[in-house]
Amino acid sequence: MIYRNHLQKMKDPLQFSDQPTEVGMECFICGTESSEVPSAGDYKQLACPECGEYKLSGTAIALFKEHNWKFNIEFTRLWLETQRKGGTIPLISSERAATLI
Ligand SMILES: [Zn+2]
Repeated sequence: MIYRNHLQKMKDPLQFSDQPTEVGMECFICGTESSEVPSAGDYKQLACPECGEYKLSGTAIALFKEHNWKFNIEFTRLWLETQRKGGTIPLISSERAATLI
């Protein structure tokens, strides 16, 4: 029995390792369940099924929490669209975020 429990415990980390690059969390813009893409910089990168992929700087995240800001969803998605035409994943800085609420 002890051995079996041990195997059971071993199973969970293995299941997680199937998709090491994706952690479920809510989209900062619209709240839809999204995948967080691990990133090295001071920002969070999210892949939202509704808004697409974007980065949000750590400072911007702190501002949103501090002031309880909410993104203007339509406006923000439109801005993300125009940014993606440049071929990069848009980074929403704290200055940018202040114009998208
Ligand atoms: Zn979204």
